[in-house]
Amino acid sequence: MKAVDEFLSAGRTFKGILLTHLHPDHVGGVNSLRTHLGSAKVYAHSATAAGLSDISVDELLNDDEVIELSGEPVIALRVMHTPGHARGHVCLFEERTGTLISGDNVVGLGSVLIDPPEGNVRDYLESLKRMRALPNLSLMLGGHGPAIANPYRKLDEYISHRLEREAKILEAVQDGATTPQEIVTRVYTDVSPKAHAMAERAVLAHLEKLADDGRISIAADKISPR
Ligand SMILES: [Zn+2]
Repeated sequence: MKAVDEFLSAGRTFKGILLTHLHPDHVGGVNSLRTHLGSAKVYAHSATAAGLSDISVDELLNDDEVIELSGEPVIALRVMHTPGHARGHVCLFEERTGTLISGDNVVGLGSVLIDPPEGNVRDYLESLKRMRALPNLSLMLGGHGPAIANPYRKLDEYISHRLEREAKILEAVQDGATTPQEIVTRVYTDVSPKAHAMAERAVLAHLEKLADDGRISIAADKISPR
């Protein structure tokens, strides 16, 4: 709020509140900010709007739509619907400076959890590849942590990290692991036991994709290789 007030007192105008996705740490302040400002339009993708019960979205964002912010120079933000972390996740690309607001798809600090059914590994990988294909990308601003100054390298790391995890999970299944818990203890050796419940969610997301790909089968909660 303080930052917004500083902008307003510096003579800037407020266009609205744009949501990258529906997770509580990204929408928790929306209603109080709206109240603080008197009125403000909330922008989000339709899948984000559909998943929020206590926040009303005024304007739906579509893939490839451009939001213009007046000023000198005009800032044009291109909306990219990039599901995977959340169904309605959007990134915003500012072409002139090559700046990508990457939301929670790529973050400067911590790691990104893909938690099904909101999260989907296949969609996530597609989204990362789409971000990777952007021309003249020079900077990424994630939803957490500092700015990312080497975006292509970071995106490559993210993509290969997911594919490595997937390969290890498949290997664990081929080696006889039959439950997400067993897979976590074999694959997430770098993760503290406290984080195992979260790791199980991530494993489930990978298992979903592996089953879709026809690499494993899941029957009555028993996982087996194919
Ligand atoms: Zn999130």
